[in-house]
Amino acid sequence: MSGILKLLKIGLVRGRVTRRYPAERTPPPEGLRGRPVLDFDACIGCGGCATACPANALTVEEAEGTWTLRLFYGRCLMCGLCEEVCPKDAIRLSDEYELATTNREDLEVELQLRRVACSGCGKYFTTRRVLEETAAEYSELSGGYSDDFRDVITLCPDCRRRKWGEALADAYREARYES
Ligand code: SF4
Ligand code: SF4
Repeated sequence: MSGILKLLKIGLVRGRVTRRYPAERTPPPEGLRGRPVLDFDACIGCGGCATACPANALTVEEAEGTWTLRLFYGRCLMCGLCEEVCPKDAIRLSDEYELATTNREDLEVELQLRRVACSGCGKYFTTRRVLEETAAEYSELSGGYSDDFRDVITLCPDCRRRKWGEALADAYREARYES
């Protein structure tokens, strides 16, 4: 009996053993690591997920007034590191695993946020949402939001260092003068 006839016989005796996918779908098993989904409202633009991503599927582009996070599913390993590091639960693995497409653009997600400029030198240094988040956390911890604190957080790291360095130098000079 030829091979094809053997197979036909087995098929007729056993009946169909496969599912009629994609018409007939199997629900994903619990805990399946599917494509990560970004919550556009929750993301503050800290960039932690892009730093943690081992596959370079998440990348950040910083321009004058904008901060852009790009997620390319074509590179994603579904490892979940982005979800682990996100401080705002703004990126989470879903149970979606069907990513096949003939259009590359279907595999790309882009989130754009506004950046703020340093009140000292004018250089763009962080996103507005990061600044607002920092202010809210400080306010909650200290029971208020002082002008001094606003002056400090609206400075870029370089200007902050310079300002603190000058303040320390002044304090040192004063202490020496008094002694
Ligand atoms: S699941 Fe892993 S590979 Fe995919 S975007 Fe997140 S960190 Fe990168
Ligand atoms: S870690 Fe979370 S909050 Fe930070 S950029 Fe990524 S998704 Fe946004």
